[in-house]
Amino acid sequence: MRALSDILSNMIQTAELIKTLTNAVGLSGNESQIHELIKTLFAPLVDEVSVSKVGSVIGVKWGGAPLRNAPRAKRLMLAAHVDEIGMMVTGIEKGFLRVARVGGTDPRILLGQRVLVHPVGRDADASGPIPGLIASRPPHVLPADKRDKVVGIDDLFVDVGLTAAQAARDIQVGDLVSFDIETVRLRGDLFTGKSMDDRASVATMIVCLDELQRLKHSWDVVAVATAGEETSFAGATTSAYGIQPDAAIAIDVTFADQHDDSSHLELGKGPAIAIGPNYHPKMGKRLMDLAKKLDMSYQVEPDIGGGTDAWPIQVSRSGVPTALISLPLRYMHSPVETVNVKDVERVGRLMAHFAADLAEEI
Ligand SMILES: [Zn+2]
Repeated sequence: MRALSDILSNMIQTAELIKTLTNAVGLSGNESQIHELIKTLFAPLVDEVSVSKVGSVIGVKWGGAPLRNAPRAKRLMLAAHVDEIGMMVTGIEKGFLRVARVGGTDPRILLGQRVLVHPVGRDADASGPIPGLIASRPPHVLPADKRDKVVGIDDLFVDVGLTAAQAARDIQVGDLVSFDIETVRLRGDLFTGKSMDDRASVATMIVCLDELQRLKHSWDVVAVATAGEETSFAGATTSAYGIQPDAAIAIDVTFADQHDDSSHLELGKGPAIAIGPNYHPKMGKRLMDLAKKLDMSYQVEPDIGGGTDAWPIQVSRSGVPTALISLPLRYMHSPVETVNVKDVERVGRLMAHFAADLAEEI
């Protein structure tokens, strides 16, 4: 039985982990801004850390000695995507920026957001990314029939407070735009901010690696903070190919119950374990049996459609037995994505015990 003080200090650490990961910036396809942070978080917990050519960060924690006659230890790949949704500058007009969505950014929530503009392919100047805000014409001057309507992205612009000449000097088409919002704790165990999808899942991998320091495991555990999930699946596709895992778990977020939408999955009720054509039935069953053994609450998510890193991993080379564990989340693809810190801890713990339980065969 762990002491209450240990549990509380762990909660604080996980809370800090979630905040640190989600306050950092790494837009889909250009994750380099967040590489150092992920490397720093992985480093004390793994034996090797590297960054792949497409921008995934890979941490390997070696297992025990390979089984007799086995050419190498078996490998369990964990994959949570490190990239986040946002916008890209598509035009500069009189100093104002036009933008398009990168990934599935919710187009209804853009007006009034504060943002940061990040240079791509060149260094930011000493003062860092350029702050801006997403604006539109005030309601007073809009025709009556437009006052209550959502303003589409084509009618919005980013005001960075620069003159046309300054904007032309400091900003280029292709620069990336992130939400400028800090993660906060609501009352209770909920945290809200941008990029919980999928940095809260990156946090679960770190919780898992931390838990593994106190467990024995014979398989290598390869934690991959994958690049490009929101746009290209480049990170999961290439990492699975390179790592050649013997089994894999993708971790992503899923739709939780909220006041205007009913889902049978709820915040705070534990990991959602997927069942469906993208997932190996034995992997799902093992995870559920293990959750029961650990006395951990879990949920079951029937998922016919897929759409996560689990898919490119499952079909890599000649196929990989793959599971998907989802973190319930409210308000997906907005700057107020909300998760429960206890779910983050449970997912991490479940994966660590799964890794420790692996023997020769799945
Ligand atoms: Zn995601």
